[in-house]
Amino acid sequence: MVRDELLRLRANAEAEAATLARDLEGLFTASRDSNADDEHDPEGATIGFERAQLTALLAATRERIAEIDDALRRVDASTYGVCEGCGRPIPEERLAARPFARRCMACA
Ligand SMILES: [Zn+2]
Repeated sequence: MVRDELLRLRANAEAEAATLARDLEGLFTASRDSNADDEHDPEGATIGFERAQLTALLAATRERIAEIDDALRRVDASTYGVCEGCGRPIPEERLAARPFARRCMACA
């Protein structure tokens, strides 16, 4: 059950990362096609800003995938849902909100 939920989340995050990567690539192509003189081109500055935002989003999404992978490993090792801080079970409400949580509220 948890495994399915995690796999679903992972698939979503993967799709999101793929979209972001594609957008990012599109931006690179756009900036290459436009004037190479980025710094003095207002459009170039906008592209630079968008690129930075997309890069940050992509990094965050990949981090989430790594978190989910980690949670999947814990499912396989039967340590999923056990707080890494105090060793007690993580409350279900917390896992429902954050399926890849490694710590209970008190230890987070
Ligand atoms: Zn704890």
